[in-house]
Amino acid sequence: MISSKDTNSQAALTLNVSGDGVAWLVFDRPDSRVNLLDEPAMLHLEQLLGELEELARTNAVHAVIVRSGKDGSFIAGADVNAIAAITDPAEAEAKARAGQRLFRRLEQLDVPTIAAIDGICLGGGTELVLACTYRLASERPETRIGLPEVQLGILPGFGGTTRLPRLIGLRAASDVILTGRNLNARKAQRIGLIDEAVPTPTLYQRAEAVARAYMQGRPPERRDRRDTATKLLESTPPGRRVLFSQARKQVMKQTKGHYPAPLAALQVMKSSVGLPIDAALDLEARAVGTLIASDVSKNLIHVFHLMESAKKAAPSGATARDIDRAAVVGAGVMGGGIAQLLATRGIGVRMKDINNAALSSGLRHERALFGMAVSRKPLRKRAANHQMDQIAPTLDYSGFGQVDVVIEAVVERMDVKKQVLADVEARTREGSVLATNTSSLSVSQMQSVLARPGDFCGMHFFNPVHRMPLVEVIRGAASSDDAIATIFALARRLGKTPIIVEDGPGFLVNRILGPYLNEAGWLLADGASVEAVDQALTRFGMPMGPLRLLDEVGFDVSRHAGATLHDAFGERMAPAPPLIAMEHTKLLGRKGGMGFYIYENDREKGRNDGIYQALGAAVPAERREISVNDIRDRTVLAMVNEAARVLEDGIVRGPGDVDLGMITGTGFPPFHGGLLRYADRRGLPAIVQRLDDLAARHGTRFTPAPLLRRYADEGRGFYPAGPAA
Ligand code: NAD
Repeated sequence: MISSKDTNSQAALTLNVSGDGVAWLVFDRPDSRVNLLDEPAMLHLEQLLGELEELARTNAVHAVIVRSGKDGSFIAGADVNAIAAITDPAEAEAKARAGQRLFRRLEQLDVPTIAAIDGICLGGGTELVLACTYRLASERPETRIGLPEVQLGILPGFGGTTRLPRLIGLRAASDVILTGRNLNARKAQRIGLIDEAVPTPTLYQRAEAVARAYMQGRPPERRDRRDTATKLLESTPPGRRVLFSQARKQVMKQTKGHYPAPLAALQVMKSSVGLPIDAALDLEARAVGTLIASDVSKNLIHVFHLMESAKKAAPSGATARDIDRAAVVGAGVMGGGIAQLLATRGIGVRMKDINNAALSSGLRHERALFGMAVSRKPLRKRAANHQMDQIAPTLDYSGFGQVDVVIEAVVERMDVKKQVLADVEARTREGSVLATNTSSLSVSQMQSVLARPGDFCGMHFFNPVHRMPLVEVIRGAASSDDAIATIFALARRLGKTPIIVEDGPGFLVNRILGPYLNEAGWLLADGASVEAVDQALTRFGMPMGPLRLLDEVGFDVSRHAGATLHDAFGERMAPAPPLIAMEHTKLLGRKGGMGFYIYENDREKGRNDGIYQALGAAVPAERREISVNDIRDRTVLAMVNEAARVLEDGIVRGPGDVDLGMITGTGFPPFHGGLLRYADRRGLPAIVQRLDDLAARHGTRFTPAPLLRRYADEGRGFYPAGPAA
């Protein structure tokens, strides 16, 4: 072996050439678990490409294998911080062009290039392998290949948007690029994104064999993986028009037009059909330049950073205890869902209830969830049955002595919960952790009846458990850091986003949501129509309007939560008359088939025309127009104001937790970057002024929170570094 003269210990890449001319280009970023295409790596790649060009020209190298020096990480993508820092479209475009030029040189080397992918290969990593001649990937689960750029509000700008459709066809490429999803080796092979999926231990051997096959003039066969119908469709202008229009419809359905990146990617793919590659790359660079500088991209990158920092938010110095076995008490809507989720992660669960009917309905619910997972194919039937077997229904506390964690999900009543928790504690062993899934009751108060209060905290899942990403980990007055760390780690293992919150009425998300939902009620009282309220908020980007959400939650549950907030915070949370009237109508919302809307077989069927009559004197006889801006500001700024009080009360660490909680717990639109980032962008002085104005017109519930006023006076935002942070 000869080595590149440049291989020093701090190099991001190394180049080794074997005696018979196989070059190994190895990515190995110093002091890091992952490889990134950051500035040092790109500079080094440029230099080594120069060497390779020379070695190929002088016949010293006949094939190049590109690999990573790290176990389980190929190249995780470009440096997100560097993308975040660029605000000028021209600079962004120039950076994209520089990357494109580099990959073009790789593509144009006089010798075949073989990518051997082991581990995560995303974004720029995938764009790099697309510029290679041949691609292999290991079959281990850590190997995931994809182009997640649209999730950061941009498009693949190092040649990915141009090369992928040329490699695998428009239909498959638009699926990968527009969704940003990633694929394992087998799936990537099935669509032609890689040529071979290889058993992990043989990856590099196989890569070398492929290199030698090229060198001996008998390269492995490469197949077009498209079916005949797709090939036909993609080969004619009318066929392509159909494909593009379908893809566009799909994007609009999913994004409601709030996310420009997938539409821009689609446009680049469309305009570059039939163009020479350099012209196509030019379109791609221009499009990515505009996107990188856009607010939406900056907001999505902000959310990405919040997600990353939330992963590391467990109490420092605390020890998370091992969880092998669990118990859930209460087999209702929530308990059933929680037990199912635990079972999917291989955790054995005892599921206790007080009667057989409840247990059977819990098991039915779980079977249905597993059935759904099988029909969507992430889970094979046998695996599903095996996981279902992990759930052992019980009417008594048998087996509780062996479990490591118990999650309580019985009815929302303090007396019942205290009794159940004391019973559970008496039957579990020292060191096991107890958690309550309460949505509104005080964790500290429950703690007062326990002999081991330190081992107890809240674990608040959202409904439906299998779909909602947020879990609030609630710290009671006596909860130990170890208990919090254990529940935090468990939530992460269940694939959730845990946020640690202090014990206070409504905790984080329900407290902020309370004034929002209530204001929707006040708007009805002022004569707004149900559709006007809901449409204003879906236009703002909420996944559904507040009245539709109230139907979803159910009026029994929402009234209960509303009452807790009213008791705790007084006048500003006094329920709006139409919401009180709604309770008297005995309509339940979706689960009862009727609320503000009508439902059939659990599906919304349109508006409930009788609703205004049912609400009686709580709403005026005639609807009147209230502007979209007024509806938006009354509801959204009510949340901003309450969030300021949440921060004032020290319920969470800072604005990032509020923003992440609202995104993962309510679907607050990520393209705004979060509730408080949205507020910062509008400017706190303007928000205070607007709230003062609303308070004058509609009442003191809008009076700006002291913290909000102070921040506005100080000229700062919720995020200390200001709106761009
Ligand atoms: P549910 O009424 O569907 O289920 C409660 C279950 O607890 C019932 O099956 C009942 O038989 C059982 N139970 C009652 N007393 C018991 C006892 N002593 N021992 C064992 N089991 C007992 O209620 P749910 O909606 O699943 O709510 C459960 C908890 O989760 C509540 O604290 C609720 O506030 C909270 N929560 C609910 C939601 C939601 O949207 N439904 C969301 C988040 C949190």
